[in-house]
Amino acid sequence: MSYMDHSATSPVDPEVLEAMLPYFTTAFGNASTLYTLGREARTAMENARKQVASLIGADPSEIYFTSGGTESDNIAIKGTVSRLKNKGNHIITSTIEHPAVDETCKYLEKNGYQVTYLPVGEEGIVKVSDVEAAITDETILITIMHANNEIGTIQPIAEIGKIAREKGIIFHTDAVQTVGKIRVNVEELNVDLLSISAHKLYGPKGIGALYIKKGVRVDPLLHGGGHERGIRPGTENIAGIVGLGKACQIAEENLDANIEYITSLREKLIKGVLEGIEASYLNGHPTKRLPNNANFRFSSIEGESLVLQLDAKGIAASTGSACSSKKLEPSHVLMAIGLEEVDAHGSLRTSLGNENTEEDIDYAINAISEVVERLRSISPLWCATEEGE
Ligand code: PLP
Repeated sequence: MSYMDHSATSPVDPEVLEAMLPYFTTAFGNASTLYTLGREARTAMENARKQVASLIGADPSEIYFTSGGTESDNIAIKGTVSRLKNKGNHIITSTIEHPAVDETCKYLEKNGYQVTYLPVGEEGIVKVSDVEAAITDETILITIMHANNEIGTIQPIAEIGKIAREKGIIFHTDAVQTVGKIRVNVEELNVDLLSISAHKLYGPKGIGALYIKKGVRVDPLLHGGGHERGIRPGTENIAGIVGLGKACQIAEENLDANIEYITSLREKLIKGVLEGIEASYLNGHPTKRLPNNANFRFSSIEGESLVLQLDAKGIAASTGSACSSKKLEPSHVLMAIGLEEVDAHGSLRTSLGNENTEEDIDYAINAISEVVERLRSISPLWCATEEGE
C-alpha cells in the first residue's frame, strides 16, 4: 500500500510508540500526585513540553497541552474573544480555514461577533494589504492559518503578525499542517497563539498543544482542577503528551533532510502528473506550498471515483479535505480559489510522508494516469469536450 494522505493523519513513528508505552503500564501515574509514580509522570510531561517548545522556538512555559488541533484552535479563538469582550467584537480570518477555525468563527458570528472572512487569490494566498484594510477599532483577533490542509499554500504569517503587533491585536495561527514539516519559529512569525496537533507529525491522535506567548491571556473553555495552569483542566494524557514531545524531537532533528527529500518526491510527482495527463492542473501556489502537498485537478473527472479507484490500486489519497470528504458539497477551499464547482469536484490531494519512496511516486503517476483515462473514457462530459461541444 502506498499511503499518500499525510495531511489527514500520519502513522505513529515506532520510536514515538516506544517512548509512549511505559506511560500506559508501569509509569501510569497521575502527574498531580506527590509520590514517585506521579513525579515520574510530571517529569515526562515537562520534558515533552521542552521538546515541543524547542521545535517552535518557544519557552516551555508557553506550551499548553490540549486534545489536538481542534481544541487548540477553539481555546485560542473563543478564549481570546471572551477575554477581550470589553475591548471589541471584530475577528478577521480567511475563507480557506480548516473547520476547526471556520466553524468556531461562524459560531461566534451567531453569537453577536462580527467576522471578516478575507478572500484569497487564485493561488490560495491571503493578501497582507487585505488584512490591514480589514482592521477596525473593534478588531480583537486575527486568525489566519499557517498552511492550508488541502492545497498546501503557506500564508505570509510573519508579515500579518507584524501588522497585528503594530496595532496591538492578538494574532493566532493554525499551524497544524506546518509544525514538523517546515521551519516554524514563533518569534519570527510574530504570533501570539499557535495551534499544534501530534497526529500530523508522526505522533498519536487526540493530543496537541497551544502556544500562548508570555503575557497573552485567554479564558479557558473548560473549568476543573486547574491543570495546565487553568487553561486546560483535566488529568493529563501523559502517554499522548510524551508521544507528541518525542515526535517533535524527531521532527526537529530531521527537519532539513526531510524537507529536501519530500520536496524532491513532490516535484517528481507534480512533473509526472502534469506532463503525463492531458487537462491536469496543480491547485495552489507553485512554490509557496508545503513540501509534501500536491493537489491536482483533472477536467471531467469525479474526485470520489478517482479516490476509490486509486484505493483499489493500493494508493490512499483524498479529494476535498479529509473532514468534508464524506459530504457532497465541493471543498470551500477550492471554491475560494475561484474554481467552478465541476472542477472543484475533480480534485485529488496527495500529501507525502517520510516513508514514501521514488517507487511509490512512479507507481502513483502510472496509477493516476490509468484511472483518469479509464474514468474519462466513460465520462459524457469528457467526450463532449473532446468533440468540442
Ligand atoms: N487545523 C488544520 C489545518 C488541520 O488540518 C486539522 C486536521 O485535519 C485540524 C486543525 C484539526 O486537528 P485535530 O485533528 O488534531 O483536531
